[in-house]
Amino acid sequence: VNYYLNNIQTKAHLNAFVEVYTDSALAQASKVDEKISSGSAGRLAGMVIGIKDVLCYQGHTVNASSKILERFESQFTSTAVQRLIDEDAIIIGRLNCDEFGMGSSNENSVHGKVLNAADESRVPGGSSGGSAVAVQANLCTVSLGTDTGGSVRQPAAFTGLVGIKPTYSRVSRWGLIAYASSFDTIGVFSKNVPDNALVMEIMAGSDDFDSTVSKKPVPHYSELLHFDKRVKVAYLKETIESPALQAEIKENTLGVLDRLKNEGHQVDEVNFPLLKYILPTYYILTTAEASSNLSRFDGVKYGYRTPNAHNLESMYKMTRTEGFGEEVKRRIMLGTFVLSASYYDAYFTKAQKVRRLIKEFTEDLLNKYDYIIMPTTPSTAFKFGEHSNDPVAMYLEDLFTVQASVSGVPALSIPNGVDSKGLPIGLQIMANSFKEAELYAFANYLN
Ligand code: GLN
Repeated sequence: VNYYLNNIQTKAHLNAFVEVYTDSALAQASKVDEKISSGSAGRLAGMVIGIKDVLCYQGHTVNASSKILERFESQFTSTAVQRLIDEDAIIIGRLNCDEFGMGSSNENSVHGKVLNAADESRVPGGSSGGSAVAVQANLCTVSLGTDTGGSVRQPAAFTGLVGIKPTYSRVSRWGLIAYASSFDTIGVFSKNVPDNALVMEIMAGSDDFDSTVSKKPVPHYSELLHFDKRVKVAYLKETIESPALQAEIKENTLGVLDRLKNEGHQVDEVNFPLLKYILPTYYILTTAEASSNLSRFDGVKYGYRTPNAHNLESMYKMTRTEGFGEEVKRRIMLGTFVLSASYYDAYFTKAQKVRRLIKEFTEDLLNKYDYIIMPTTPSTAFKFGEHSNDPVAMYLEDLFTVQASVSGVPALSIPNGVDSKGLPIGLQIMANSFKEAELYAFANYLN
């Protein structure tokens, strides 16, 4: 803990942590030391973990990187975090992110931007940018992020880490501040596959507090990492030939596919005609869900309340106007629009139907193939400000990550070399729902 506290101080300018739990982390560390000497330590004894600023931790502030949750303190601890604590993990602090998880660069945060330690003039990715940089810069061993449309995988790719989005419903969302409830997942950042697998197996599984979470038993992922079979891998022609794809990322991805062929695996090219519908589907459905989820922040129940109101109506309006950032407001307006009576069928209902098509296509393909491989992102980490004035360019960052989110299947990003600027490149692997064990084993083999 002292080692990490020291690093957090010397790397404070990266702005990954928004709060460091110095005293409670040190106290917890002493307790764990005692447990280790008495032989009663849990499976995560000594693992130092940072948590994204959207996960509730009793008695601690949580802001979702938004002014609207200013000074809000959690009344209870999220199931994911509690399960880590129960296994003697040490929670060292709270990590910066895009406001309510909305963004791909960590530039939309009331706490300010996070710097990528690989090149400080570049973004770390988002929305879990702080979680990524905390592990990248050795400020903690692993971290928790959330992934609604790529927010663990994309920053993992930009910082050279292993990052997983589990199957939707694998990990309880109790105590996670909602962005888009039918997409939100809690994922893990780590430097290697075994640490990631261990943390995921401890967090996952049924929970009485979240009725949407799966009751399927959780395999011991960390003990199933051995890989010695021949597998069938598909790659999607439209992703590898996408004009948005940086040439060096294409080359590195093709390099992995070649390696797999040489090692005796079956590798097939498959057409994915639905690729162009994925981003519109994702952004229609997530903005709709966000507009509904974020209606609870009205100045009455949580966090910030405007001091300038003159009646109830103006209190609601001014609180929300002053409390939400630009991107969040844009999404609330888009979401309200697609849910409005005269446009509901044209946008929301249509997008639900397209979601079903994408999900069925993806699941069918993953019944025929063990894995789908594609780049995690179209480009490596971009410069601050590069996409800030162009929301559509920013949304295009999510081109390859949203397929798994729309379909609910698990996906993992592993490091796959660097480009000519020395910036990390990510490789994404997808498997069918609840096949996290297979995903980890394959990632461990490739990594
Ligand atoms: N960039 C995507 C978005 O803004 C993904 C965010 C996420 O996964 N939380 O919606």
